[in-house]
Amino acid sequence: MGLLDARITKHNALVTSVDNVMNWARLSSLWPMGFGLACCAIEMMATNASNYDLERFGIFPRASPRQSDLMIVAGTVTMKMAERVVRLYEQMPEPRYVLSMGSCSNCGGPYWHHGYHVLKGVDRVIPVDVYVPGCPPRPEALIGGLMKIQELIRMEQIGISRADALKKLEEKSADPRPLIEVARQGVKAS
Ligand code: SF4
Repeated sequence: MGLLDARITKHNALVTSVDNVMNWARLSSLWPMGFGLACCAIEMMATNASNYDLERFGIFPRASPRQSDLMIVAGTVTMKMAERVVRLYEQMPEPRYVLSMGSCSNCGGPYWHHGYHVLKGVDRVIPVDVYVPGCPPRPEALIGGLMKIQELIRMEQIGISRADALKKLEEKSADPRPLIEVARQGVKAS
């Protein structure tokens, strides 16, 4: 019997909101699409291997965009491939998330100057939720990025579009007044 089972026995009741349940279900069953573009994909595969055991977070790669809610863009996005990336993204059902893994996907990476054939950031063709820096990022960094996607989902609300939710989050984090107030109180107290 797990810890949770031991706590919730027989006649107990849980009170929560629909938002919480929906978000919890979504963030506990992220299904990334199983595709990779270049060397970063090797690190992504390593992250999915037994050493890191992503399934404990409910993260399990799927072979079809129609069953996936997360696209990990792992590797160099060439102009030729960009079209396919967009098509795959459009085949994913909502709600869908995008994680850009590595410098190539973030901004063109080592091909920034002379790679006439490389897209200078996948966010030029699809919206990106989380960027993971590195060339290539280690599995721990990718797991950090996946945790960020989970944080994003945790803050979602039914009836509020993702664009609005992100705007709200931005406003919340950009407002320095509460922090200044806490600092002032700290000075007064000492
Ligand atoms: S960021 Fe580095 S490791 Fe990743 S695909 Fe580009 S060159 Fe390869």
